[in-house]
Formats: sequence, C-alpha cells, structure tokens
Amino acid sequence: MSDSVMNTYARLPVAFERGEGAWLLDQQGTRYLDALGGIAVCALGHAHPAVTEAIRDQAGKLVHTSNLYEIPLQRELADLVTGLAGMDRAFFCNSGAEANEAAIKLARLHGHRRGVELPHVVVAEGAFHGRTLATLTATGNRKVQAGFEPLVNGFVRVPFNDLDALSTVAANTPSAVAVLLEPIQGEGGIRVAEDAYLRGVRELCDRHGWLLMFDEIQCGMGRSGRFLACQHSGVQPDVVTLAKALANGFPIGVCMARGGAAELFQPGNHGSTFGGNPLACRAALATVRTLLEEQLIERAEALGARLLQGLSAALENSDAVVAVRGRGLMLGVEFDRPCRELVTRALAKGLLINVTAETVIRLLPPLTLTDEQADRIVDLIAELAAEFSAACA
Ligand code: PLP
Repeated sequence: MSDSVMNTYARLPVAFERGEGAWLLDQQGTRYLDALGGIAVCALGHAHPAVTEAIRDQAGKLVHTSNLYEIPLQRELADLVTGLAGMDRAFFCNSGAEANEAAIKLARLHGHRRGVELPHVVVAEGAFHGRTLATLTATGNRKVQAGFEPLVNGFVRVPFNDLDALSTVAANTPSAVAVLLEPIQGEGGIRVAEDAYLRGVRELCDRHGWLLMFDEIQCGMGRSGRFLACQHSGVQPDVVTLAKALANGFPIGVCMARGGAAELFQPGNHGSTFGGNPLACRAALATVRTLLEEQLIERAEALGARLLQGLSAALENSDAVVAVRGRGLMLGVEFDRPCRELVTRALAKGLLINVTAETVIRLLPPLTLTDEQADRIVDLIAELAAEFSAACA
C-alpha cells in the first residue's frame, strides 16, 4: 500500500468493496458480518436503497448552493429532526466534532449573556466529544489530548454518573454555565448514564441557570431504542448534538437547541460552507424517514434485548468476562484484561467488532439486523471469549 495517506489510523488489513445490509464484502468477495456499522454510522445497513436513490436523484439535480441562499431541504430536515428531538432550532454542520463545537459556542454565548466573563463547561471523565481542539479538550481521555497542548480553556471535569461531584462544582464554580454529557458513553466503554443521574443533572442545571447539553452523536438516532437516548429518562436537554447515523454515512452533523439557547446564534456568529447542503440534507431526510417508516427504533430496542440476553447467557461462565451492558444496539462486553487482539481474531471469523477503553468489545450493528444475524454475533463472540480465556489461562 502507498504511504501517501497520513498515518492517523491503525488500519486492519482488509478493504471492502461492497455492502449489503449488515454484510460487507472485501475485494476477494469474502463476506463479513458488520457488528460495528462504520462505528454507529450505517444504522440502515449498507447500500440501503432509500438512501442510495435519494443521493443519486439529488446529485443529478443540485449538490450545493452555500448558506447564502434559502435551502428548502435544510428547513425540511430541521423540522423533522427538531420535532423528533423536542427541540426548536437546528444548525447543520459536517461531523460530530463540529456539532459539539457549535454546542460549546452556544454555552459560551449563554455564559456571556449572563455576565460570566470566562464561562466554563462541565464535562465527564471517560467522555469522547471529538478531535478538534475544543472537543479534544472536552474529551476525558489523556491519550486524545497528549501532544496537542496548550489545550483550550473553559472546561471543568467531573466523574461520570456522580451527582455529588456535579453539586460540588455547582457550589464552588461560579463560572460554570453548562454541562456536556453523553447519555451513553461510547468510546469510554459503553457506560450508560443512570436515569436518576440525568434527572438530577437536569435539576441542577435548572437551579443554576446552566445549559444541559447532550452529545448523542453515537447513542442517538434510534440506536438506544428511543430517537434520543436521553428520552429513556424523560430528561429534555437544552442542546443536543447528532451526526454519525444522521445520513447513514453521508457526512452531516447537527446541533439542536430549544428555548433561549435556540435564539443565541445570530447571523455572523457561526457558520459552515458545506453544512446542511442540499445533498447532505436529502440523504439525511431519506435516512430519518426510513428509520421511522421501517420502525427501526422499536426494532433496535427488541434486537438490543435479544443480544443482551443472548450475550449474558452465553458469557455467564466465562472467566475473562466481567460485564455485559448497554442499551438497545449499543452494547459492550467488558473483559478483565486488555483485549484488543479480539478485533483481528473476530475478523478472521468474518465478524467486524471494535475494542474500546482497552478492555471492552463494542457492538454497534445496523438497526436492520435480522434475528439470525444477531444470534450469529452472539455465537461468534462466545467462541472468541472462550478462546481468549483459554489462551490467557
Ligand atoms: N461525540 C461522540 C459521542 C462520538 O462518539 C464521536 C465520534 O466517535 C464524536 C463526538 C466525534 O464525531 P466525528 O468523528 O464525526 O467528529
């Protein structure tokens, strides 16, 4: 392989040529069951005809005009996603990190509006919010930050799922103006925020006039069994970000806000050349409508329960497995030791998985998975866990 691409990824030695639903086919025609879905991106599976047709048709009509002009498809998409998320307004961009940048900028505007000179956003340990300078600072993983100092000012970190720690910040940090959290931490090892914790965070935010901002870039878009993962807890944020699955692989992100937070940006405050262009919005409209028409959010909940139950039963007696957890189709299998080698072992068995936080197999399969495919994932993970335990014994 040529090395003219920058060396930012540790890539596996396989290249895919085609996809069909939950299957990916490599250049030799070998089939792999995709339990990672392009890292929570291909929620409708690969090459879903509704998205393919929308992209094909729109590409033949109009790809881009710029945000100097009205973009009816952008308004249509904003109506659809704000309606599903219970928000008032949407700002479109091209990635998750950009959506979070918009959220952080909203928090700072909110702070300044309240007379806070150097506003701070409270973020969690184990969080992942992206790779731009502000979002890598918000990220709770030193590895992501190392080498990129000076980091950005204006963040305070607390342990995840710990309301007392947040109350302490509230009591001692008058510059705090917002909280940014993933309702289910993805990169952090599939850690689900407790519903009671999220409700407590909402109360604290209300009491102190903070914005509650959820990063649903990985856990949103129906994957958890609700359109937004926070909807399990009944908690409504002031700001929420989505990206990844929004157009099933076509790049687009969105930062949505409600109430006063939705009125903070004014012309000239923020923008994006590509953000919300006709092609991206058309792909996203097709994706979200398909998600609803095919009842894939309900399906994610049912499939998630099947996988969780199957994995828990199959791994019950495994020496090396310490926990099986998750919500909907966002699942983790935690081992008692680093298990990165399982990714290549799975690949050899025709299964695509990922290991995050060193010890956790992460499963983010398409929401279109069949029951048989779900059961096949359970069987293969059980095989992998048994081989891994035996090799480590
Ligand atoms: N936030 C979360 C929760 C994510 O999982 C990710 C990506 O993994 C991001 C933000 C960053 O998204 P992107 O890679 O599209 O910038």
